Amino acid sequence: MSDAADEKPMPVLFVGHGSPMNAIEDNEFSRSWMELGRSLPHPRAILCVSAHWETQGTCVTAMERPRTIHDFYGFPQALYEEKYPAPGSRSLAQEVIGLLGSAAVSPDESWGLDHGCWAVLTRMFPGADVPVVQLSLDRTQPGRRHFELAGGLQPLRRQGVLIVASGNLVHNLRRVVLRGEDFNEPFGLDWAIEANGLFKKLIDREDYGSLADYPSLGNSVRLAVPTPEHFLPLLYALALRQEGDSLRYFNDVPVAGSLTMTSLLIDGAS
Ligand code: ZN
Repeated sequence: MSDAADEKPMPVLFVGHGSPMNAIEDNEFSRSWMELGRSLPHPRAILCVSAHWETQGTCVTAMERPRTIHDFYGFPQALYEEKYPAPGSRSLAQEVIGLLGSAAVSPDESWGLDHGCWAVLTRMFPGADVPVVQLSLDRTQPGRRHFELAGGLQPLRRQGVLIVASGNLVHNLRRVVLRGEDFNEPFGLDWAIEANGLFKKLIDREDYGSLADYPSLGNSVRLAVPTPEHFLPLLYALALRQEGDSLRYFNDVPVAGSLTMTSLLIDGAS
């Protein structure tokens, strides 16, 4: 790890990942991920917080060769054949444990890269040459605790580490409404649009306390966040926003009625 404290901090991303097919389909989301990968400063390593890795306690992948995990069902064979052979990084895993404390985070040798991580990174960094480490979501903890924990990762931004939080602001698979063949056709149910708008308003106001306490935000949010895992990664990205950082939304589109692809790029001031 470099000690270049005067280095411009790396950006932080929250990416709405949506359908695993975005990994191999050419569409507006996959294209935006490709463009973003080309425009971002080249990271030394990537730390990914994915909706698809929930554990008891927080874990960080520490293997040298993380496997590509195909954690979805009923998709075309081509998606199961996709591999993302990026190396891991024991040193970054140790750095994360050093920052957050060994009581809070344990090294993991069994996970790998799940689709919340690789489906996005295969577009953003198709060369798979940047080491990737995943941080899990502790399913026993409330939003507030996730936000606090994430703040401890701040020093990584000045060490060339790109932090990618991957989920969806609005994500309710039980309420999906398909109006045609295309899962990604822009369409949002009223409550999904309302909840997404509320989330953005709270982000713009920097009211992270209300976002961390999302179960209190009312009916539309109860439908938008029926389970916490796709929403919690947002708190990791917001906890890493520093004064002077810019924040830009992209892919701010509802799909399949009950998901939003709304994503955030938090970019550091020099
Ligand atoms: Zn997902």
